[in-house]
Amino acid sequence: MAASGLTAAVVGGSVGGLFAANMLARRGWRVRVFERVAGGLESRGAGIAMHPELDAILAAAGARPDGPLGIRVAGRTAYDRRGRQIAFHPRPQYLTAWARVFNPLHAAFPAEHYHRGREVVAVATGAAGRAALRFSDGETVEADLVVAADGFRSTVRALLAPEVVPRYAGYVAWRGMVDEAALSAGFRDAVFGRYAFVFPPRSQFIGYPVAGRDESLEPGRRRYNFLWYCPVDEGGLADLLTDETGLCHEYSIPPPLIRRAHVEGFRRMAAALLPPPFAEAAARADQIMLQPIYDVESARLVFGRVALLGDAAFVARPHVGIGVLKAGQDALELACALAGSASIEAALGRYEAARSRAGRDAVRFGRWLGAFIGRRLEAPWSDPELRLPPERLIAVSATPVEQVVGEMPCP
Ligand SMILES: Cc1cc2nc3c(=O)[nH]c(=O)nc-3n(C[C@H](O)[C@H](O)[C@H](O)COP(=O)(O)OP(=O)(O)OC[C@H]3O[C@@H](n4cnc5c(N)ncnc54)[C@H](O)[C@@H]3O)c2cc1C
Repeated sequence: MAASGLTAAVVGGSVGGLFAANMLARRGWRVRVFERVAGGLESRGAGIAMHPELDAILAAAGARPDGPLGIRVAGRTAYDRRGRQIAFHPRPQYLTAWARVFNPLHAAFPAEHYHRGREVVAVATGAAGRAALRFSDGETVEADLVVAADGFRSTVRALLAPEVVPRYAGYVAWRGMVDEAALSAGFRDAVFGRYAFVFPPRSQFIGYPVAGRDESLEPGRRRYNFLWYCPVDEGGLADLLTDETGLCHEYSIPPPLIRRAHVEGFRRMAAALLPPPFAEAAARADQIMLQPIYDVESARLVFGRVALLGDAAFVARPHVGIGVLKAGQDALELACALAGSASIEAALGRYEAARSRAGRDAVRFGRWLGAFIGRRLEAPWSDPELRLPPERLIAVSATPVEQVVGEMPCP
């Protein structure tokens, strides 16, 4: 289908929206991006585990960053609750920071068509079957195609498929980052350069090096990123999401609003349960973040001329580590389907079939890898039916979803 003259409106200007916007623009679409946040998104504090497949997808978006993508690790190492190495799985991988993915995507898209501070509040069918968006200031915009890349709490999904809600997995991830320079020489020598999986009782800690605050990959200026999955029941979650004023936040809480008592509780728990040297990372992180773990599964991805993409469509638990890759794959499938189909409707049908299956598989994969935490088991290998002894867990978690679909025991 020739794209000349066709318009696309992308809701959400994060990685998913920018993958789609760049890929469509490169195929001749006239694209505008509408992002709710008025400031920049460059400084989101996430460390990103890159997958080899992401390189080609960034290139397809015209956003391959200059130089190395991140810090190279040789593989994944598992440690027991005392900090002794119990398994190693060779799998070279790059670990980086959010900005090294977001910035090239943002730079590749024409700034004059990227609109900040624009919140979509309604979506409808416009003239001649086109899609129409309404913004919080009352303005409306029509387009031949709307791409809803507005994240796991998607406004567009809530309007079109209100029955789809994030489902709490029964555990949270405590997260943090530490400057390399703030870590002891012992830590830097023993574990800094490793992709570490640690198994304290009924939980799982993961740590790896990422680019520094200024995106630097230079030794001495990098950071160490960790997450620690810990079981928390619904009542406990509500308490964790309640700030000092008594306000209970829905789904997630901004890091500065986490109550001091909870941060102190986290640090005490880390000192008691994390083996050295990993306890050091938890102790030295300046800001602690809390990420409750949810599954999001959309039964449909297409509503007329509106397509859900990225986290708006499916969210798999972070064990799978593919949120960014999946958003890129969604965008590539959408752009290719549009280029290779006779009509927008046919293309959207093709997109929905391909990406629904991929999204469902990713969610199942995450559920499998995290099942032992939700079920409060001592370790993933406590239930033989999960088939996750440590050497297998670190190998499987490094494998593309498509290659493990047949092995997953969870529905
Ligand atoms: C702490 C953390 C660590 C992570 N680590 C990794 C990792 O290592 N590897 C990995 O692959 N993934 C990781 N992820 C997941 C990854 O960040 C997401 O999968 C990815 O950002 C999804 O991109 P998206 O564009 O679909 O959604 P988002 O990045 O959530 O972006 C949605 C955008 O839509 C905007 N928006 C929302 N509502 C509206 C509206 N009504 N109107 C206009 N705009 C709107 C939002 O402001 C936001 O900018 C991590 C996530 C977190 C929170």
